[in-house]
Amino acid sequence: TSSSRPFDLQIKLLMIGDSAVGKTSLLLRYANDTFSSTFITTIGIDFKIKTIDLDGKRVKLQIWDTAGQEQFRTITRSYFRGAQGIVLVYDITDRGTFNSVRSWMAQINDHADAQVNRVLIGNKADFETARQVSTEEGQRLADEYGVKFFETSAKNDVNVTECFTTIAREAKARI
Ligand code: GDP
Ligand code: MG
Repeated sequence: TSSSRPFDLQIKLLMIGDSAVGKTSLLLRYANDTFSSTFITTIGIDFKIKTIDLDGKRVKLQIWDTAGQEQFRTITRSYFRGAQGIVLVYDITDRGTFNSVRSWMAQINDHADAQVNRVLIGNKADFETARQVSTEEGQRLADEYGVKFFETSAKNDVNVTECFTTIAREAKARI
């Protein structure tokens, strides 16, 4: 199977952001191509592995998901250890989660390696009628931090592969 084929390099990615923004849903969509409409308790899930072909290399992505600690808006320092890329997610239908992005960026700055790559994601883009954060606001904040920005839908599988491929490619470029 593809998962047992040898790989050229391994990249550690992290999912970060407020509770219920869809971090676990994005990861499951990407790694398993599934979606669950129930709240997924991440307790017991450490990481998922997905091996992809990236610009001629076999790249093994090890993608870590939080186990609910983000409810307290703080994540243990050890979670960040060795991470080469961070997927920072907010929910376009919940302005509070967008307002938290700055504090997550500060935590990344405090705890992650200085050269870590980040990407900003506004998730639940399928839920336009409940939108509270415009695309322009998301893009502006991403520009301020010098990171790429995507609006995604884990539900409808929009931009999910693109966001993981982008962060993997940026991380790979620095290895
Ligand atoms: P986490 O706490 O950040 O890991 O969030 P979850 O992945 O557990 O998702 C929280 C809730 O948002 C669940 O009810 C999901 O079904 C829902 N959800 C996640 N992604 C999307 C999405 O893209 N669109 C919509 N409409 N709902 C989503
Ligand atoms: Mg989760």
